[in-house]
Amino acid sequence: MANIPEYFGSLVFDDRVMRSVLPADVYASMRETIDEGKELDISVANAVAGAMKDWAVEKGATHFTHWFQPLTGITAEKHESFISPSPDGGVIMEFSGKELIKGEPDASSFPNGGLRATFEARGYTAWDPTSYAFIKDRTLCIPTAFCSYGGHALDKKTPLLRSMEALSEQAVRILRLFGNTAVKRVRPNVGAEQEYFLISREDYVKREDLRFTGRTLFGARPPKGQELDDHYFGVIKPKVAEFMRDLDGELWKLGILAKTEHNEVAPSQHELASIYATANITTDDNQLTMEVMQKIAARHGLVCLLHEKPFAGVNGSGKHNNWSLATDEGQNLLAPGDTPYENAQFLVFLCSVIKAVDDYQDLLRLAVATAGNDHRLGANEAPPAVVSIFLGDELTAVLDAIESDTPYLGAEKTQMKLGVDVLPKFNRDTTDRNRTSPFAYTGNKFEFRMVGSSDSIACTNIMLNSAVAHTLRGFADRLEAADDFEDELHGMIRETIKAHKRIIFNGNGYDDAWIHEATEKRGLSNLRTTADAMPHLLDPKNADMLTSESVYTPEELRARCEANLENYCKTITIEANTMVDMAATQIIPAVSGFCSELAETAAKKRALIPGLACRYETDTVSRLSDLTDEIGIRLAALEEALLSAAVSEDVFEASSRIRDLILPAMCELRVACDQAETLTAKKWWPFPTYGDLLFGV
Ligand code: ADP
Ligand code: MG
Repeated sequence: MANIPEYFGSLVFDDRVMRSVLPADVYASMRETIDEGKELDISVANAVAGAMKDWAVEKGATHFTHWFQPLTGITAEKHESFISPSPDGGVIMEFSGKELIKGEPDASSFPNGGLRATFEARGYTAWDPTSYAFIKDRTLCIPTAFCSYGGHALDKKTPLLRSMEALSEQAVRILRLFGNTAVKRVRPNVGAEQEYFLISREDYVKREDLRFTGRTLFGARPPKGQELDDHYFGVIKPKVAEFMRDLDGELWKLGILAKTEHNEVAPSQHELASIYATANITTDDNQLTMEVMQKIAARHGLVCLLHEKPFAGVNGSGKHNNWSLATDEGQNLLAPGDTPYENAQFLVFLCSVIKAVDDYQDLLRLAVATAGNDHRLGANEAPPAVVSIFLGDELTAVLDAIESDTPYLGAEKTQMKLGVDVLPKFNRDTTDRNRTSPFAYTGNKFEFRMVGSSDSIACTNIMLNSAVAHTLRGFADRLEAADDFEDELHGMIRETIKAHKRIIFNGNGYDDAWIHEATEKRGLSNLRTTADAMPHLLDPKNADMLTSESVYTPEELRARCEANLENYCKTITIEANTMVDMAATQIIPAVSGFCSELAETAAKKRALIPGLACRYETDTVSRLSDLTDEIGIRLAALEEALLSAAVSEDVFEASSRIRDLILPAMCELRVACDQAETLTAKKWWPFPTYGDLLFGV
């Protein structure tokens, strides 16, 4: 590949391009819009659209699309061509400011939780100038927000931008109290780490479950799994290395800073991390990354599985959302500082996160709730469904010292008086990696590890930003009204630690004892499934916070809750139907065919040597025959569960019925089929096994 700095971002209409192709006054207005949220003038939009089109056409683009993130699903786009007829019978390439700013996708079939039905027939997309346009598959993609005509957000981007606004406003208030008069904005920085599986395309197409649902619904454990830990950070296989090289190149052209790639715990599992950026940019980039991964995999005869749990009994895939707060001057507010004042300020932001995560643990849990992710969270895998914070021993000791007004026994003995004493220097490396914590402080950022691998990180960041904004608002109200700032500050931090330390847990999150302690002694919530978690979005405590911070309207909240539950119901119903089909039309016939072969073999052997026991043949036929009957019974039970769950019109009730009736019936059917697999000759088994899939690349 050519010179990386030369092609990095070559498919992005970024600041470098804008500066070079836009007239100076147009560029200046664009920057004001991007940096300060100033409204865009139509004449500026026309100029930008013209320049964008010329740039894109020169790069080979023929179409444009507004690129947006509907409530469920990955991203959506509707391609339109640049061409328009010219009077001389030919065509010219055209693209107006109006087309750039606003689009009207005929999007009536996107999930909307009833919003469009109630308000208007159609929605529109609106350009988000803070996120750069880019070219993908000869199409100029314009990142947009998606709204109904009543102004209700039908996407994930709009509330994310609103939550960033809320957070900035409250964080700036706090910084003013600490004497910072220069800061204009505070932004959440986010770095996403993405886990995924790569399997061979040839195997993939032979499995209905993978094609229809993204995960295996059947499959006995292979003789070798991840026991040896020989895959983790191991040597990357040549085929995979080629894929990664290609992927990097493609992502770099799109201006995505893919940085590290390595093997993960499970066989054929890998991870990609990119360098952090502002939350909305990282959200867009991660959506794009998932799409590009799948495209590049196909080019290499592979399939990239983004499902949270493609293989039972093997580690699932997640996404780590690394989150910090930074001022427009570049100061990281979650990094301890060098002066007493900076340290006190750090503790305010740290405590705001602790309080926010404790108060809104249910929101963080439901932000990552999907049918796929339920197989990871709360299912004997990291992280658990219980939200807690890992701070590390040193920082916890500092907070303990503040809470109890006792000297901190760190390197030097220090009495902690905020704003007066310097915080002890923590050695960043001693914040040892607690990989089992759902929310870990790692020295200058928090790493939230509950996000599912296929999910957008938008919802997580919306909840995190909003909850912290709301907490900072309470802090700022209190501190602004104080007579003695330092006294009030000290008291506020102590109270916050005392009230919310239950959320801090530095131990092993996998441990059953922890789940018991968390729920029984500490009163933390343990929402195991999407059906349990999602309805809490509408709890008055949560709805009040989100609406008072102007992140969602009450109608938008209801719509999201319903769309997410609907998605949960549909996903599981499709899985159950796929199981029924595979068991009835593939597994039972295969097992039966194998039995008939065994019976023939036994008959032939006995014809040759009368009276032979043929124990293997008779035992296997007998066991498989019983299993086939069992499969038949469980199949019928699953079909019945599907029928009885389908009667419910109310999505809240439907999701509980699906959780209670269909999921257990699916498990039962699977157990019987997996047993049959272990007894059936491989050449009879109708699709590739776990061994083939996991060790096939
Ligand atoms: P770690 O070793 O703690 O996992 P890395 O440097 O590998 O740290 O970073 C992991 C992810 O966290 C990367 O995506 C990185 O860009 C991101 N990251 C690093 N610093 C920050 C920060 N201050 N804010 C947000 N994300 C960050
Ligand atoms: Mg990580």
